[in-house]
Amino acid sequence: MSQIFGPVPSRRLGLSLGIDIIPFKTCTFDCVYCQLGRTTNKTIQRKKYIASEEILRELEKVLREGKKIDYITFSGSGEPTLNLEIGEMIAGIKKMTSIPVAVLTNGTLLHQPQVQADLLEADLVVPSLDAASEEVFRRVNRPHSSLTIGGVIRGIKTFSRNFKGKLWLEIMLVKGMNDSEKSVNQIKKAIKEMRLDKIQLNTVVRPPAEEFAQGLSWQDLERIKSILGKRCEIVTELSKKLKQRAYKGDIEKTILTMVKRRPLTLAEISSSLGLHQNEVIKYIGLLEREGQIKRQIYREKRYYC
Ligand code: SF4
Repeated sequence: MSQIFGPVPSRRLGLSLGIDIIPFKTCTFDCVYCQLGRTTNKTIQRKKYIASEEILRELEKVLREGKKIDYITFSGSGEPTLNLEIGEMIAGIKKMTSIPVAVLTNGTLLHQPQVQADLLEADLVVPSLDAASEEVFRRVNRPHSSLTIGGVIRGIKTFSRNFKGKLWLEIMLVKGMNDSEKSVNQIKKAIKEMRLDKIQLNTVVRPPAEEFAQGLSWQDLERIKSILGKRCEIVTELSKKLKQRAYKGDIEKTILTMVKRRPLTLAEISSSLGLHQNEVIKYIGLLEREGQIKRQIYREKRYYC
């Protein structure tokens, strides 16, 4: 499957052309809420997983199609900063187009000077921080054993001072896990000295890795927003307008027809549609919230029916 997907409607970035530079579920975390399922390769080792020439060649072709794109976004099957060539890729994209480049990262490698240097040319970096205590960090993010929350916070803080682009911090809230007043106040204290343009509150709206990871209500998100202050916003749902603009053909209908015949996994649906799992999960999330499809677990695998 192609490493470039979309443009897909993104709640925050408008029409986002995704670039996936990591093998499926290779990450420094194994978050309970991960929409891609459990991490199969938990690592902190940076590698040339996918070569920058390959990505840049493919991107050049996609850009020639002249589609409307608001952001070129590094996101996908795992933590993008694990790819050793991300800096080279960003530099190559900046030479090719004026479309802004965004990097969605869990921020765990930002303490490394080389990772910081690699991201300096991006226009927008969105690190996430879901906890500020070791206990909550281990419970929600299930990090690689060598990572500590203190190190992650220090890394984001240093990066925020050196980076000249926009920096939005994402906090993913999981009901009963990191949404208490105590947890939120700990995060508030930890981010005080970070130079952030925005703090974005998000919650579980797509099928999570663990069934027990549940989303917060709007009222609870509002309560937490008021604790975190002015720079904080709740990431709103996909607007109808954006959905109409970006949805190709009738993917929702096709997914419904497919799962009517037999229960299917995310990987099966993606490969039948020839679309990246990150793109398909957005449609599945919407269909699930509308009550049109349901999840079923069978032998530890998740099926949609
Ligand atoms: S949510 Fe992001 S950081 Fe967490 S396990 Fe999934 S890919 Fe990794």
